[in-house]
Amino acid sequence: MGYNVAIDGPAGAGKSTIAKLVAEEKGFIYVDTGAMYRGLAIHFLDRGIQAEETDKVIEACKDADVKIRYEDGVQQVFLNGTNITGRLRDEAVGQMTSKCSVIPEVRAKLLDLQRDLARTQDVIMDGRDIGTCVLPDADVKVYLTASVETRAKRRYDELTAKGEACDLDEIARDIKERDERDMNRETAPLRQAEDAVLVDSSDMTIEEVVKEIAGLCM
Ligand code: C5P
Repeated sequence: MGYNVAIDGPAGAGKSTIAKLVAEEKGFIYVDTGAMYRGLAIHFLDRGIQAEETDKVIEACKDADVKIRYEDGVQQVFLNGTNITGRLRDEAVGQMTSKCSVIPEVRAKLLDLQRDLARTQDVIMDGRDIGTCVLPDADVKVYLTASVETRAKRRYDELTAKGEACDLDEIARDIKERDERDMNRETAPLRQAEDAVLVDSSDMTIEEVVKEIAGLCM
């Protein structure tokens, strides 16, 4: 069994940024489970399936092969043999992902893949249900959050820096909508595990958050 660190929290809390840095410092492999869900969502989008067409989504799961590989330590997601990493962060993909990930069959599809990765190596895995469902016996569990305003502003700055036009209120609305759905779904909702350490990064720098979480690890 590898050493397992679980980081859960809402959209835009900085999980991936922090987890990558902690992974580097501690020599863990960073596993981004959101990227796996996003990979499946791309499979559905490419087939012209709407998130509401549950039967079609479940059927399409059967011929989706999501694989994770690491190139220079960076996670790459392959969908049926094609590297789709560059498409993962599109806004449309994010919304589709959140809608489809309420479907139990979609979650079941990725569960074994996530557990297998953690069984054999030291990982820091981020997502929504890692501490509560995927790795209930993780060595360290963190619930990383920040206010909606902070999360929206971070996303706004990120998109603006890339030269993409965006609207702060719209981003905040999307974030709230995604939180609502992730926290209120029946299967594996987003919530803080009882034994998770709560870290609110609203008024913390990246360095401070990394230090706090790295300090919890072996
Ligand atoms: O973390 P990220 O924003 O990439 O996740 C995209 C969506 O995937 C989330 O809004 C959530 O609905 C879903 N997800 C999930 N369980 C995970 C990781 C992501 O349901 N472990």
